[in-house]
Amino acid sequence: MRTIDHCYQDPLDAIWLVTAHRIGLRVERSGQVYASTDGRGRLLVGEARTLDPDDSLAQMVFHELCHSLIEGPDAFDRPDWGLDNTGPRDIARERACLRLQATLAAEYGLRGFLAPTTEFRSFYDELASDPLQPRRDWTVVLAILGLRHADKPPWAPHLREALRATAEIARTARQLIGPDSAVADSRPMLWRLVDRLPERHRVGFPGAVEDDVERACGNCAWRYRGGPGRPVDRCRQADGVRVEADWPGCNRWEAELDCRECAACCRDAYHSVTVSRRDPMLRNHPDLVVDRGSYVELRRIGHPRGNHCAALGGGIYSTDPGDARPAGDDPAGQAPWRPYGCAIYADRPRPCREFETGGQHCLTARRRVGLSR
Ligand code: SF4
Ligand code: SF4
Repeated sequence: MRTIDHCYQDPLDAIWLVTAHRIGLRVERSGQVYASTDGRGRLLVGEARTLDPDDSLAQMVFHELCHSLIEGPDAFDRPDWGLDNTGPRDIARERACLRLQATLAAEYGLRGFLAPTTEFRSFYDELASDPLQPRRDWTVVLAILGLRHADKPPWAPHLREALRATAEIARTARQLIGPDSAVADSRPMLWRLVDRLPERHRVGFPGAVEDDVERACGNCAWRYRGGPGRPVDRCRQADGVRVEADWPGCNRWEAELDCRECAACCRDAYHSVTVSRRDPMLRNHPDLVVDRGSYVELRRIGHPRGNHCAALGGGIYSTDPGDARPAGDDPAGQAPWRPYGCAIYADRPRPCREFETGGQHCLTARRRVGLSR
């Protein structure tokens, strides 16, 4: 009788089991569920016999981790990340998860290979080559905010390491197997959906979405001319690294900024805007400021999505404040929205006048509200 002292494990299964464990989840198989978390560190995934032929443990764990990125670190303590998957309440959050999943997977050529196998698959398949558009959509904002978590503990470095390793194995398998499907059932194997690894941009970010010849450093909002020394084209996203106008864009590329679509700096990106006591705005609009004794600041209005300057109108604030939902929060996409605007634009105080569109503070503001990566 031989002694069995090792067990075989599918390599992708092993990678994602270990990754889940390193991030804080213990994966167990169950015949009772498709995928579910108990809020106490356990992720239940359906047993192989209960899953569809295109289900993989790798994708299922990855999908759950994408949910955790959207919901944030506190959600590890909530069953199913605090989401209700029995009704429409959290459809926007599910869609945000899929946008994030598509974005992260695409960076490793795995957008098709790691596609979700839930009832939301058609939404995933219909996403544009850049899943983070349009920025006005609340599900895009949630996805951008969630992506920020991917490079922080407990997800980093494990999640990206798992994606890198999965991409290497999947590409090797795809090359070796080719179009042959004789060893599987009549359907082509999932490996066929593995794409080539996207080129990295010279500044280090992943390259722009496939075949997008319109996006170049030269027409990117984050290119600026500056020093030290002789002014040259530089990239605000890459901490001032030098770029050339004819370089293809990276995945941080953004078109010319439109403040009426943004208003990040007037919303909750900055919690206080101080106004000089000598600013003429104080005389003309005393109702829009608050005197704190040692300083005066613009008055702010509370809102379910974060407070904002009392002079700001438009955007998600155009609806009844009690039900102010960005368009993407509405499963039917019908929630009203109108361009942002400042009610006292001609009279706005000095800090607002001096705020530079496309400058460092503008990028910080947009990042804080989930409009820029
Ligand atoms: S963010 Fe814009 S300027 Fe910077 S590398 Fe990407 S495309 Fe070029
Ligand atoms: S953060 Fe930048 S783009 Fe947005 S409203 Fe302010 S200046 Fe305009």
